[in-house]
Amino acid sequence: MSIAVNIEKINQEIEPLGITLVAISKTKPVEDILEAYNAGQRVFGENMVQELTDKYEQLPKDIQWHLVGHLQTNKVKYIAPFISMIESVDSIKLLKEINKHAIKHNRVIDCLLQVYIAEESTKFGLDHIELVELLRDEEFLTLDNIRIRGLMGIATNTENEKEVKEEFYELKMLFDGIKASFFRKVDTFDTLSMGMSSDYKLAIENGSTMIRLGSTVFGKRIIKHFKTDQNQ
Ligand SMILES: *Cc1c(COP(=O)(O)O)cnc(C)c1O
Repeated sequence: MSIAVNIEKINQEIEPLGITLVAISKTKPVEDILEAYNAGQRVFGENMVQELTDKYEQLPKDIQWHLVGHLQTNKVKYIAPFISMIESVDSIKLLKEINKHAIKHNRVIDCLLQVYIAEESTKFGLDHIELVELLRDEEFLTLDNIRIRGLMGIATNTENEKEVKEEFYELKMLFDGIKASFFRKVDTFDTLSMGMSSDYKLAIENGSTMIRLGSTVFGKRIIKHFKTDQNQ
């Protein structure tokens, strides 16, 4: 099937549910991204800063780029001018750096806090306690140029549906709890990014509002990224 057909099919399925598709284009050439773009797709995700900035420069400027991979503080400056959402925020230190560069560019940058839900110990993200600590940090309240839009999580890569379902359910409960406790007065804490090609149906059943699909859109990746797929 073609990329355009894939895009149309997925969007037909999720648009009525108010779910956003982030087309994860890592390792894929700009031609493939343009094919998806011409089929109407505007939100794309990458996990490497260098690859993201290269593609940003070559592609139409109305694309909304999401970073979904681990971000080092010293690389924030490269994406701050244009990034639409950073889905992989996992520390107050990183948030402060994003805020600093957002101020420089006179922008407010949308962020998701990445929560660790998988069994594998290699995955990045905050655990529940770290998440609450971050939100209670006095400095957090002073960061006016970042906007926390919600949470992101990556489930365990397993055939065991029950386990994946439990992880998504847990993240949804956490999302609702955090929203009620910390974001009651704002209506912009509205995004729960969970679900990849292998598990997005389960994610949707459990309350996802944003799915991140790579191979379902673009076909299998031939180039394998290092283990966690987000090591940089
Ligand atoms: C690669 C990646 C995806 C997409 O993976 P697929 O299995 O190809 O859909 C989603 N989220 C993150 C964080 C990724 O690194």
